[in-house]
Amino acid sequence: MAGVVIVTGGSRGIGAEICRLAGKAGYSVCVNYRSDREAAQNVAELVEAAGGKAIICGADVAQEADVKSMFRLVDQELGTITALVNNAGIVGKVGKVEELDAERINRMLAVNVTGAFLCVREAVLRMSTAHDGKGGVIVNMSSAAARLGSPGEFIDYAASKGAMDSMTIGMAKELGDQGIRVNAIRPGLIDTEIHASAGAADRVERFRDSVPMKRAGSAEEVAKAALWLMSEDSSYVNGALVDVAGGR
Ligand code: NAP
Repeated sequence: MAGVVIVTGGSRGIGAEICRLAGKAGYSVCVNYRSDREAAQNVAELVEAAGGKAIICGADVAQEADVKSMFRLVDQELGTITALVNNAGIVGKVGKVEELDAERINRMLAVNVTGAFLCVREAVLRMSTAHDGKGGVIVNMSSAAARLGSPGEFIDYAASKGAMDSMTIGMAKELGDQGIRVNAIRPGLIDTEIHASAGAADRVERFRDSVPMKRAGSAEEVAKAALWLMSEDSSYVNGALVDVAGGR
């Protein structure tokens, strides 16, 4: 048995593919979602069809009480987690820096940064050998935006992903001797619904030519990197920021 994984934002896009491949690899999977229960249920069915066990859990990762309840549910239903994928993330509408307001920036940071921290804390309390755990792996879904900066689009989002890179480096160093590896993936232009959420459904088409490989990536191509980082095949990879961005 491969282990027990929580995939935040597992109901759609990249997270859904991570859940599906984790199911195929034999993981028991908690498919987290915020609002789209039906989508999460569909993913859970895919996980089970692929050979894994699945539960769904509605929790806003920005809400501390929701995160605690999610981890308790997983303790009860699936057992102690061995892997956490901090994948849930939001983006605001495309716009310039002078259009940003505190409400938008704070929500961005609450979901993309605070949410990831809260999930890591709960994971460490269960995985760390310093807390009588058996170790585990954490994968943070950052973005190429962390190094590109997203000018004219969503610098607040890019900054939240820059924070995720820093978290990954610090956590890898802090937790390395507690049996926990922490790495990040920085996807580039990936064909999911997130672009429509930013009010730019044509974004993949518009930016395709800026990618050296002249195409967007698929959610599955990112998910394969996540599964590798979760596996023993990456046993000496810690604190890495893995670009899955077609060279962009
Ligand atoms: P997506 O298709 O928009 O899916 C986002 C997922 O996150 C959904 O399952 C959504 O659930 C969930 N979610 C949103 N807010 C949440 C919250 N507060 N609590 C729990 N779950 C929440 O996004 P995606 O493109 O797959 O992106 C996944 C991750 O990859 C994000 O962190 C994103 O920043 C990163 N990324 C994406 C790209 C890209 O080009 N697609 C590039 C670089 C990085 P509901 O539907 O229930 O709200």
